[in-house]
Amino acid sequence: DMIIRTENAAKSYTTGTVTTHALRGVTLGIPPGSFTCIVGPSGHGKSTLMHLIGGLDRPSEGSVFLDGCEISTLDNSNMAKLRAQKIGFVFQFFNLLQSLTAAENVEIAMMLAGIPEKEQASRALKLLALVGLAEKADAKPSQLSGGQQQRVAIARALANDPAILLMDEPTGNLDSAAEGEILAILRSLHAVGKTIVIVTHNDEIAKTAENIIRVMDGRVLS
Ligand code: ADP
Ligand code: ADP
Repeated sequence: DMIIRTENAAKSYTTGTVTTHALRGVTLGIPPGSFTCIVGPSGHGKSTLMHLIGGLDRPSEGSVFLDGCEISTLDNSNMAKLRAQKIGFVFQFFNLLQSLTAAENVEIAMMLAGIPEKEQASRALKLLALVGLAEKADAKPSQLSGGQQQRVAIARALANDPAILLMDEPTGNLDSAAEGEILAILRSLHAVGKTIVIVTHNDEIAKTAENIIRVMDGRVLS
């Protein structure tokens, strides 16, 4: 009853005649509701592992299971559907749409998830309030600090009420004050039962984690 599971998941990239073994056969399980950090040196396979467990990419070998469903064998459209139901993503560089307000950035994720239009605005405001940004609902990303933009990105990731939040270096581009705010939000999401999985170099976040997955040279150290 792990919410995320991999069995001997391997991933190679071939560019021309060069093959990189980014992951060399990883078996792991992440319990529902846990706070898990994926740590390890740069270039050792952390982002690749995150892309596999998030259904953003498929393993070259082995299997990936999300909530009991083997995602590695789904076609693109079913993989996208499952991903949208189960997972919210947060990335290092926020990836907000610059021409839209904070609220609209959250609403657009709801549109994609099929949340009824009449519920979108009020739900977006609730999520922005949850990350402490109710008063910035009408601001454009360029009018927000990096930490505020990342909080909008977290609100957007929560648009579809996913069971799992997957984050790749969410504080990698933030100062320590903003980092603290993000960490407080992550703790509160963990407290309400979200499964949180974070690729991070941040020691404060890693200290909060219940599980640490150490990635080294494409393998997971126990
Ligand atoms: P980080 O060390 O912060 O995880 P990387 O530079 O290793 O950043 O990777 C960031 C992303 O860039 C990866 O998830 C992958 O999609 C892409 N990437 C990394 N290395 C290569 C490469 N050699 N060729 C093509 N894309 C790459
Ligand atoms: P990390 O996140 O730990 O920095 P990555 O998973 O991004 O590591 O990368 C692991 C290895 O795979 C690195 O050698 C990287 O250059 C390579 N890599 C990652 N993505 C790609 C890609 N899309 N194409 C080619 N090589 C890649």
